[in-house]
Amino acid sequence: APVSPPAQHLFSDPAEIQALRRNLLAWYDKCKRDLPWRTLAATEPDADRRAYAVWVSEIMLQQTQVATVIDYYNRWMQKWPTLQALAQASLEEVNELWAGLGYYSRGKRLQEAAKKVVSELAGRMPRTAEDLQKLLPGVGRYTAGAIASISYGQATGIVDGNVIRVLCRLRCIGADSSSSAVTDCLWDMANAVVDRSRPGDFNQALMELGATVCVPKAPLCGECPVRKQCRARHRKLLGQPTPVPDVEDCGVGDCPLCPPAAEPWDSSLGVTNFPRKAAKKQPRSARTATCVLERRGCHGAPEYLIVQRPRSGLLAGLWEFPSLPVAQSLQEEKEREVLADHLQAWMGQPVAAEGLQLIGEVVHIFSHIHQTYVVYSLPLDGDVTWDSASSPSRWVTEEEFHASAVSTAMKKVL
Ligand code: SF4
Repeated sequence: APVSPPAQHLFSDPAEIQALRRNLLAWYDKCKRDLPWRTLAATEPDADRRAYAVWVSEIMLQQTQVATVIDYYNRWMQKWPTLQALAQASLEEVNELWAGLGYYSRGKRLQEAAKKVVSELAGRMPRTAEDLQKLLPGVGRYTAGAIASISYGQATGIVDGNVIRVLCRLRCIGADSSSSAVTDCLWDMANAVVDRSRPGDFNQALMELGATVCVPKAPLCGECPVRKQCRARHRKLLGQPTPVPDVEDCGVGDCPLCPPAAEPWDSSLGVTNFPRKAAKKQPRSARTATCVLERRGCHGAPEYLIVQRPRSGLLAGLWEFPSLPVAQSLQEEKEREVLADHLQAWMGQPVAAEGLQLIGEVVHIFSHIHQTYVVYSLPLDGDVTWDSASSPSRWVTEEEFHASAVSTAMKKVL
């Protein structure tokens, strides 16, 4: 049966909550980074336009660093400044702009959701976190809470990686932070502490604190605006939990929020005892033989053949050099043969395995796949036609290649 978390891990003192809100917001007003989506959210009078900007930025920021996102965000908003403009875009255009940002299904789902708002919701965004999550594909609990609090002023908390770290440290939560007991507790806590009059700023402040001060490895506790409310810091300074827990409840293995009894507080880690995560699953290894077919274009510049991937699955709809997944253990000679057969079947003309020149290997890490591309090159004298019935293809110059919807991995291959 679930054990309810001991009160010492929660925020229960109203004065302490007030102090947390006050200190955090004052720090945010002074120290926040200038980011284009923040500027727009602060200056745009139309709430739906604000919501659209926050939505785009939040989807781009999932799994991606702020510094990388800024350029993509600016180009996106220039091309599709409104939801209505995005709803008119093609998947090809979305993939082209998204190329290099990774996790391509994010762009696709964003565009599908924009279409849905325009065609099924009369162009009006849902305005609460509950409706946003329920009605928009690709919008989860976190993104819904971010849009609702920042754009529509709903007093709802949000929990992302940064917030998990900050809250776990503030309340000495050391159980596996991906467990349902901890996740539920963190959402309850985020909803309890969010500032009622400035929920969007409060949520952004909590995330900003995690991104710039309460960072994973060497947090800047001395500069932290909420250090007085931080139990991990108290514990580090005093060498014992604060307040001293009831031994019946906490620290002896029964508490669903304490570090597991087998891995207790390690004083050499200090506040970085929190949070803790279960060991990550190792990505699986995969190997793909890929062939760069090259010909001389009309002005003598090289051109390359690219083909489009299926419209679903990994890297859906993106363009790549003709490729074939192969077994890890395949010998080079055999690999050359199967790749030549593959090319032959698509090109409808003989391809000699010996003509394929092995260039080298490119390794690319997707979130869950450790992918090795074995790169071959095949220079061609004349034109070839690719069987476009199953897979569209086209010849591109190097410049056109970089402007196409191709993944970072394929850029490395070229
Ligand atoms: Fe994080 Fe340190 Fe601030 Fe606590 S005092 S919230 S551990 S930066």
